[in-house]
Amino acid sequence: MNAAPALSLKSVTLTYPDGDRRLTALDAVSLDVAPGELVAVAGPSGSGKSSLLAVAATLLRPDEGRVAVAGQDTGAMSARARTALRRERIGIVFQQANLLPSLTAEEQLLAVEHVRGGARGVRSGVRGVRAARARAAELLESVGLDAAKRRRRPHQLSGGERQRVNIARALSGGPSVLLVDEPTSALDHERGERVVELLAAVTRAHGTATVLVTHDRALLGRADRVLTMADGRLR
Ligand code: ADP
Ligand code: MG
Repeated sequence: MNAAPALSLKSVTLTYPDGDRRLTALDAVSLDVAPGELVAVAGPSGSGKSSLLAVAATLLRPDEGRVAVAGQDTGAMSARARTALRRERIGIVFQQANLLPSLTAEEQLLAVEHVRGGARGVRSGVRGVRAARARAAELLESVGLDAAKRRRRPHQLSGGERQRVNIARALSGGPSVLLVDEPTSALDHERGERVVELLAAVTRAHGTATVLVTHDRALLGRADRVLTMADGRLR
């Protein structure tokens, strides 16, 4: 039985301005990812991996082709509807953890929850705050951060731990699609491997359609499918 894809790209082409010409970063790329599936995309630097994630995240609009998230075609959407879709349905983990230096691990998750709740018009009474704290603690626990680490700020955590906070934060809105760009580039091989293991586990546990981009082929053992990107083409 095949579940309907949570992420679907059809013949997506993306170009960037390049002097008086255009550079083709994505060349007729098609990709379907089912809920609970981890797809790895490997390829050298400059092959178009980050561009692929930017289009899947609806951060960039393709020149041609179709991008659907959770069954919704994003091409005809207003910018506002796309922002809402991104907030509700898409979790993004970039290369650098992008954590706020003054906040503890738990507060990193609460801050995005607050923004999301505000956009939904949810009021945050004492009960709401307590529930959000419990959810944040649970998510951080599930990525391997104990109570003491949950109260630390980014500079008091290791690179691998920061990346775990980053992953927990991306999951906090209950996304259908999880997009992960070179999460292990700042880690040694063993820590990198553990982060990829974690991504495989959260993909199962949360049922996300996960795309993991990396130039490190050694990390691909945990993926359900491995695709290769070269010169903007996916194979
Ligand atoms: P990767 O993530 O695999 O390293 P990218 O998607 O970042 O590849 O880049 C693909 C190609 O598009 C590269 O040739 C890169 O130089 C070019 N590129 C990426 N972003 C931009 C941009 N904002 N403007 C112009 N060219 C870009
Ligand atoms: Mg990149």
